[in-house]
Amino acid sequence: MALVSAKEMLTKAVEGGYAVGHFNINNLEWTKAILQTAQELQSPVILGVSEGAAKYMCGYTVVSNMVKAMIEELNITVPVALHLDHGTYEGAKKAIAAGFSSIQFDGGHAPIEDNLAKTAEFVAICNEKGLSLEAEVGSIGGEEDGVIGMGELADPAQCKTIADLGITMLAAGIGNIHGKYPANWQGLNFDVLSEIHKACSGKPLVLHGGTGIPAEMVKKAISLGVAKVNVNTECQLAFAAATRKYVEDGKDLSGKGFDPRKLLAPGVEAIKATVKEKMELFGSVGKA
Ligand SMILES: [Zn+2]
Repeated sequence: MALVSAKEMLTKAVEGGYAVGHFNINNLEWTKAILQTAQELQSPVILGVSEGAAKYMCGYTVVSNMVKAMIEELNITVPVALHLDHGTYEGAKKAIAAGFSSIQFDGGHAPIEDNLAKTAEFVAICNEKGLSLEAEVGSIGGEEDGVIGMGELADPAQCKTIADLGITMLAAGIGNIHGKYPANWQGLNFDVLSEIHKACSGKPLVLHGGTGIPAEMVKKAISLGVAKVNVNTECQLAFAAATRKYVEDGKDLSGKGFDPRKLLAPGVEAIKATVKEKMELFGSVGKA
C-alpha cells in the first residue's frame, strides 16, 4: 500500500474511540520494527520524523524513499502515514516536496497571528496535495526546550481559531511534556482537554510526549478526543536498555556477536515490544 495521509485513519479513530500511534523513526531498524509490528497487529500507524532525525538520515528524500521501498518490499498493507514532526516553515516545504504524506507545522513558538497565517498557507498546500496537516497551539514543554516545566496549557479559544482554518489535527498543551516526566509532574489537565475538544467540534487532537504518561490517563485522554498519541522517548529508552544488556552480557565478544545485525537485534525487539504495548493501549489493534 502506498503512503496515505493521516486524515482517514484519524477520522475512523475518533469515531471508534481509539487513537493511532505516532512513533518516531531514527534509522532503518527503527522503521522496519515499527512497520512490521503494525502489520502483525493490523494497526494503522504514523511514522514520525523530526527535522533532526531527517538530517541524521541524510534528508527528507532519503527517508521518504526508504519508507516507501520498505512498505513495498515488506508487503505492508496497513495504512502508513509518513509525518513530519514539529516542522518549521522551511522544513515542512522540503518534506512535502520529498513526498511526505503528513505534516506538522509547528508555529506554536511564534506569535499567534504569525502561526495562523503560516498554518493557513499549509492548509491550502496540504488540501491541494491530499496531505494531512497538524497544527500546534502554544508550545509543549519539556527537555527539547532545555527546560523541564510543568507543561503548558493551551487556550481553547486559540485552539478553535486555528482548528477552523481547516487543519486535520491539532496538538495542544494539556500539561504534557516531551521526554521524561519530572517526579513532581501534576498529570494531564482533563478540564482543559474537554474544553479544547468542545471548542474544536471534535477535530482529532494530538497528545505529544506520550512517554511516561500513566496508561489510565492516556485512556481517559483518548475518551476525550485524543486520536493521535506521539511516542518517541519510550522506544529510545527500550532500545538503549536492550543494547546495553547485550554488551554488558559480553555477547558482542562471543563468536560473531559484533555483527551489527546481531548487535542491534535485541534493541529492535525491544522497540517492537514497546510499539505493541502502545498499540494495545491506544486501541488501534485490528483497526487497519
Ligand atoms: Zn512533540
